[in-house]
Amino acid sequence: MTATILDGRALAHELKAEAQTEIAALAKVLGRAPSLVVVQVGNDPASSRYVRTIGKLCNSVGATFHHELLPTDAPQEELRAIIHTLNGEQAVDGILVQLPLPAHLDATGAILAIDYQKDVDGVHPINAGLLAQGRPSIVPNTPAGGMELLRRNGVALRGRRAAVVGRSAIVGRPMAQLLLQADATVTICHSRTAELAAVLRECEIVCVAVGRPGLVTAEMIRPGAVVVDFGTNVCADGNLVGDVDFASVVEVAGAITPVPGGTGPVTNAMLLRNLIDSARSRSAS
Ligand code: NDP
Repeated sequence: MTATILDGRALAHELKAEAQTEIAALAKVLGRAPSLVVVQVGNDPASSRYVRTIGKLCNSVGATFHHELLPTDAPQEELRAIIHTLNGEQAVDGILVQLPLPAHLDATGAILAIDYQKDVDGVHPINAGLLAQGRPSIVPNTPAGGMELLRRNGVALRGRRAAVVGRSAIVGRPMAQLLLQADATVTICHSRTAELAAVLRECEIVCVAVGRPGLVTAEMIRPGAVVVDFGTNVCADGNLVGDVDFASVVEVAGAITPVPGGTGPVTNAMLLRNLIDSARSRSAS
């Protein structure tokens, strides 16, 4: 068997086109475009690259983008004050604090300072709590993208056994919550899980968010299972690989996300979804 490829680039393209249409319609209602502010402290090159990507993405779909760049030695109080100002600005719909912050700053404190209704990364504990209770919330972009890949490819989830490998607050845990909301029967695996292979072989859906190239191999996958690989690992040769051994698993799985070109491209498109939802729900309240 050769698995169906769940194409993240194609889906991201589709999601961006949808976002562009929705943003144009919303701008008529609001009298302005939905707007995102990214707060960055210092000039970490990877962060600056990501911020540029998000800026271009917003511009390409008609959303307003603003970049607040603070010096590397900015104190926590200055960061908090900027976030509080943005919280109070009616014309700001989404706030994203770019991580990692310089070592002297407290990332948890910065995230807690964001109005949870403008938390378009879905990282505020109120959003995590709402998600854990199965209530409407802003969901972190990466797992939201994973779910979108499953849904739009017609993968049935209700009543099926799903495993999520990884329990981080940003990927693994919310992915497990989303699968549970979709009525899958969910097992969360982590570094202390005994007999990972045996657990995964039971499952029709396997989602992996660990950060270890080749952790999941063909012998761990039930024939026909759907495999979602969130792993993003840069090899010594500069190539990007996932956590799943793609070459062997593609022969066993029913469907699989490639790396690159799977969950990664969809993640940024889901940020637009959160921005639109935030602008819409704030305008309605
Ligand atoms: P974290 O390091 O925060 O979490 C990794 C998780 O993997 C932990 O829960 C850890 O368990 C678990 N783990 C580690 N080793 C093993 C093992 N041998 N067997 C089973 N579980 C293990 O990572 P993130 O969740 O932030 O990221 C995970 C991956 O996803 C990375 O490659 C990252 O680059 C990628 N990523 C991709 C995104 C995308 O857009 N596609 C966006 C964000 C991240 P424990 O809790 O016990 O330590």
